[in-house]
Amino acid sequence: MVKFNIIDQYPIRLGITDRLGGISQGPYGCMNTNFYHPDQFQTACSDIKIAIDSLGITAKIIVATRQTHSSNLLIIDENFEFKGLKAYDVSNTDLKGYELYSVDGTDGLITNRNDIVLMTFYADCVPLFIYDTEKKVVASVHSGWRGTSKRIGEVAIKMLEKQYESNAESLIAGIGQSAGKCCYEVDEPVVEIFKSAFKPEQVSLLFEERGGGKYLVDLKKANQMIFNENGLLEGSVEVKSACTICEPTRYHSHRYVNGGPRGSMSMFVQLI
Ligand SMILES: [Zn+2]
Repeated sequence: MVKFNIIDQYPIRLGITDRLGGISQGPYGCMNTNFYHPDQFQTACSDIKIAIDSLGITAKIIVATRQTHSSNLLIIDENFEFKGLKAYDVSNTDLKGYELYSVDGTDGLITNRNDIVLMTFYADCVPLFIYDTEKKVVASVHSGWRGTSKRIGEVAIKMLEKQYESNAESLIAGIGQSAGKCCYEVDEPVVEIFKSAFKPEQVSLLFEERGGGKYLVDLKKANQMIFNENGLLEGSVEVKSACTICEPTRYHSHRYVNGGPRGSMSMFVQLI
């Protein structure tokens, strides 16, 4: 489990799973939270229970994203209507007594409620969270290269400002384990897409040319730039340097298995 010191003094429980500590087997082992694979549903529910228990999470309503590399975020506030979400039958799993929902076409969740667990998925893409220390609201965000080029971290901050009157000086954030610049290779068209979302001097800091139309990209740095540009204070962002492709026994990595079967890691968040 990957945890963040920056939230230690605040009423929030948050962590990102790795591959350790669960009961899943083979390419999904030992910890896989992706319950969308029908043949992994039972074990994924067990691993989710192990993970949320280890974080001290007590809420019984879990809301998970079905991610599409969009910049769509959903706010779950006190008036939220759960009827529109897909609900899963967990009565025969270790999550018995919980409610488990998924939200289609969404890459980030925001809540000010303390009876909800936010759940997002990762296997190389960048996990982001943003927490308002004054308004006590949290955003959990999935930001791969597409999401980063759509500046989904900024979209989340704007939503916090609009919906909860968040002030940037009160925000703290985290950037979790993800594919690092050491390993994360992309093609020329990706560079072109970033040129429309970042300044030229930023693009030259984010990409390193390798020849043959290939580039290494630093998505963690791109998201840190977005946080800085949106007014987060110096020292208010905690970044995990770990690269998921470099450490395939510790983390699930989509690139490392070359698209083959694999598990997913999840950020779990509950306000308390
Ligand atoms: Zn690496």
